[in-house]
Amino acid sequence: MKENILGVDVCAETYEQLTSRLLADIEEKRKAFIVAINPEKIMKAQQDESLRQLLNSATYQIPDGIGVIIASVLKGGNIRSRVTGIDMMLQLCKEAALHQKKIFLYGAKPGIADEAKVKLEEMFPGIQITGTLNGYEKDENVIRDTINASGAEIIFVALGSPAQENWIIKHKEILAPYVYQGVGGSFDVVSGRLNRAPAFFQKLGLEWFYRLLKEPWRWKRQLILPKFLIKVIKG
Ligand code: UDP
Repeated sequence: MKENILGVDVCAETYEQLTSRLLADIEEKRKAFIVAINPEKIMKAQQDESLRQLLNSATYQIPDGIGVIIASVLKGGNIRSRVTGIDMMLQLCKEAALHQKKIFLYGAKPGIADEAKVKLEEMFPGIQITGTLNGYEKDENVIRDTINASGAEIIFVALGSPAQENWIIKHKEILAPYVYQGVGGSFDVVSGRLNRAPAFFQKLGLEWFYRLLKEPWRWKRQLILPKFLIKVIKG
């Protein structure tokens, strides 16, 4: 079930529905690619046809960002709750621990993926994180061999956007894992290096506001939201 917002597909499924589809993808040995959709990416895709195609070529486009929910409401769609990249990742980790699926963490600065691994092991007893690699390793052979040797079925890719999406498209057919999720700065958050917005901000959908307070240099990126909503209304 997908809705189309300004030319970009977005899934209308919940965390639970997506997780069971992903587990089925692994069982049936199908490659699956999860991409987080936010207003910034949709706006970029307006000027960049190859980015639009890239986003639409993913298996599951999750509605990350409150702007996507508002756009669905404005368009008479059915998407009413966010599926954030980080929560999707945590939900997948929980289910992977229950179903003994192996996980690989690829991306972020040296040491961060290992710190995230330790934290995830504390959060989800029994989780099998069978490999990690920092996002600054450039040797293609090392990257491929490390990932394939891990036996992982799920890989989280934290290289930032759109680098991680491009990387996934280019590599998913030659690598062993079935499930590929681009997770941006999530390893920095999970490792504890970067604080996530307090629950209060999360509940109100104001994580963007919290992030603006913490990282004010991002303000330009956030001007996108009103422009995006105006475009949705007009379009
Ligand atoms: N990163 C990386 N390799 C690179 C460039 C960036 O692993 O060559 C990592 C960086 O350390 C950070 C993440 O990619 O952990 C980008 O996080 P950001 O929150 O900027 O992601 P975005 O907002 O683009 O999704």
